[in-house]
Amino acid sequence: MRGIAASPGIAIGKSILKEEKVLQADEREINSNEVEGELERLREALEKAVKELREIQEETKQKVGPEEAEIFSAHQMLVQDPEMTQVMEEGIKNEKKNAEKALVDAVEQYASLMAGLEDEYMQAREADIRDVGNRVLRILKGESDQQENLPDDSIIIARDLTPSDTARLDKDRVLAFVTADGSRTSHSAIMARSLGIPAVVGLGREFLEEVEDGMQVIVDGNSGEIYLDPDEEKLSEYRDKLEAYRKEKERLAQFKDVKAVTRDGEEVEVVGNIGNTGDVEPLLEQGGEGIGLFRTEFLYMDRDDLPGEEEQFEAYREVAEAMGDYPVIIRTLDIGGDKDLPYLEQPEEMNPFLGYRAIRLCLDQPEIFKPQLKAILRASHYGNVKLMYPMIATLEEVREANKLLEEAKKELEQEDIPFDREMEKGIMIEVPGAVMIAEDLSDEVDFFSIGTNDLIQYAMAVDRGNERIAYLHSPYHPAVLKLIEETIAAGHRNDIWVGMCGEAAGDELLLPFLLGAGLDEFSMSAGSVLRIKELLGFWTREEAREVTEAALKLKTAREVQEFLEEKKKTAR
Ligand code: PEP
Ligand code: MG
Repeated sequence: MRGIAASPGIAIGKSILKEEKVLQADEREINSNEVEGELERLREALEKAVKELREIQEETKQKVGPEEAEIFSAHQMLVQDPEMTQVMEEGIKNEKKNAEKALVDAVEQYASLMAGLEDEYMQAREADIRDVGNRVLRILKGESDQQENLPDDSIIIARDLTPSDTARLDKDRVLAFVTADGSRTSHSAIMARSLGIPAVVGLGREFLEEVEDGMQVIVDGNSGEIYLDPDEEKLSEYRDKLEAYRKEKERLAQFKDVKAVTRDGEEVEVVGNIGNTGDVEPLLEQGGEGIGLFRTEFLYMDRDDLPGEEEQFEAYREVAEAMGDYPVIIRTLDIGGDKDLPYLEQPEEMNPFLGYRAIRLCLDQPEIFKPQLKAILRASHYGNVKLMYPMIATLEEVREANKLLEEAKKELEQEDIPFDREMEKGIMIEVPGAVMIAEDLSDEVDFFSIGTNDLIQYAMAVDRGNERIAYLHSPYHPAVLKLIEETIAAGHRNDIWVGMCGEAAGDELLLPFLLGAGLDEFSMSAGSVLRIKELLGFWTREEAREVTEAALKLKTAREVQEFLEEKKKTAR
């Protein structure tokens, strides 16, 4: 079967089906003598659940980042909720239910209550309550956490994984994951790449019917292929591939501590995309020379309220300090589209990707935007920080955002708080309309960064997360090439530098095209950095320019792809 190759690497292991659990208790009526005992069992289980959650929270904080860990603190509060505990205790005392039944009934009661509420945020709590309920029930039954029981060669198979599911994957035991839903740019895929776990997503729901627990599975995160119960021939083919992949990784390590340069010695910036503080170290390990995109929305996700200025400042400062002199481009809140914040009241939209999102929302709600601008400015005092606005479509938007930035600076000055007065500011170019007015936009900023994930989505009218039409979401389409080339040229005509932080920046085939078009900075998932550094060394800007010019004359995505494949073969 073939899905979308979401995170590179190869794994051979045993499937672990992550099913959505249904709460089910062994029901038993108890007699009066047993009441105390059941109450005690319930209390112990609740305490143990809190302890488990605290450990998971700590572990997630270490492995991924404080933002992702936040959800487990919310879960602890649910376990300790006095009202729910009271309902359970009364069930045991008055209705003579055993602890399991009292728990399940209380959880059901609260979960349906939440599900029935108007508020979207409260509705989303339903899943949390059930999740917590399952945890306590499992403890009551004397079973241990599935995570601890995973065999060493687990391949997690699920309908979808939330960012917090992904964050919790035990990297020592989980070799790969495979999901029925999702796309290359969905957030679980992005996190898989930063954790370095191979992943294939978007296989379609039918796929789940085919899999059984404990099946042998091959996951090819490079091609998107999945083999269930493979024969000996396939297995041996993939054992060889796995070995070759390991060797390739070792070979690429030589580029870790060398600067990215073209064959004739021109330095080019090869930097990485991160989603949270925990991604910094893996990026440095992979030889990243800076951060071209810090997706700050992860700081806002999986929690109950907005992070304040202080909390954001701490996170941004941590990243800025860890990167030393390397540039750190912090993108302001890019929420909406496929990234929802349940605690922010947002009206239902027919087309969320074309809706009230990113800079549009931020300009409309300066009380959300300002604290972030101030937090980023404050962090600029501690490193080489730059700021970037997402989803810019008009000149007014940039001017308005810059005005708020100036206000934020004034307020910090009044508060006597230091920041870098020269901090660069830039915009993402991810709306085709913005390309058409790029020269005017460049008057307002210090740099552009091309966001191809969205730019392709809007240029080709193709939902970036819809696997059925994924063939249209191609960086090789002539329209996309022209948009990229024009953005770089417009920026350079006005003496600003131009980078790229969409997935296309790490695309091996596209590399000479981008280099030849004059791209100054390539920002990608950590896993692509070493290979792109190597490939850059095969080209001079001049040679690459010939590729760019020739590619721009081609008429279909297929022609472009074939041409670039040819070029890659000849480059050394
Ligand atoms: C993009 O759109 O290319 C981009 C880098 O932003 P995101 O993937 O976070 O939308
Ligand atoms: Mg985008």
